[in-house]
Amino acid sequence: MSKYDREYQRAWYQENREKVCEQRREIYRAKRKLLVKARLESQGNRCAICGTVAPGERGWHFDHDARCCKYRDVRRRCGGCERGILCSLCNVAIGMLQEDAQVMRAAADYIETWARE
Ligand SMILES: [Zn+2]
Ligand SMILES: [Zn+2]
Repeated sequence: MSKYDREYQRAWYQENREKVCEQRREIYRAKRKLLVKARLESQGNRCAICGTVAPGERGWHFDHDARCCKYRDVRRRCGGCERGILCSLCNVAIGMLQEDAQVMRAAADYIETWARE
């Protein structure tokens, strides 16, 4: 590649950086959508916890183990810590209970203890 070519490429990239980035984001979103769709189908198109078919206002959430990767951006995650697809409520709920299975079981016991017959 000649010096001219490189400069031309650089100029082109500078000029089109926004477009290139947008294109990449677009491709990423499309891939992500397919991934979520396939995973969701394997769950019978239901939330992996409560079984709802309506994900809520914020849509389906691809849950992952936050103790492994803290990034919201899935591209920065290791790829091995993703779990299931959750509805918005369940996603918030497990976060509120610190993703601690013991706390969640205790919460279930608590609810049952106070449940009216
Ligand atoms: Zn749910
Ligand atoms: Zn990870």
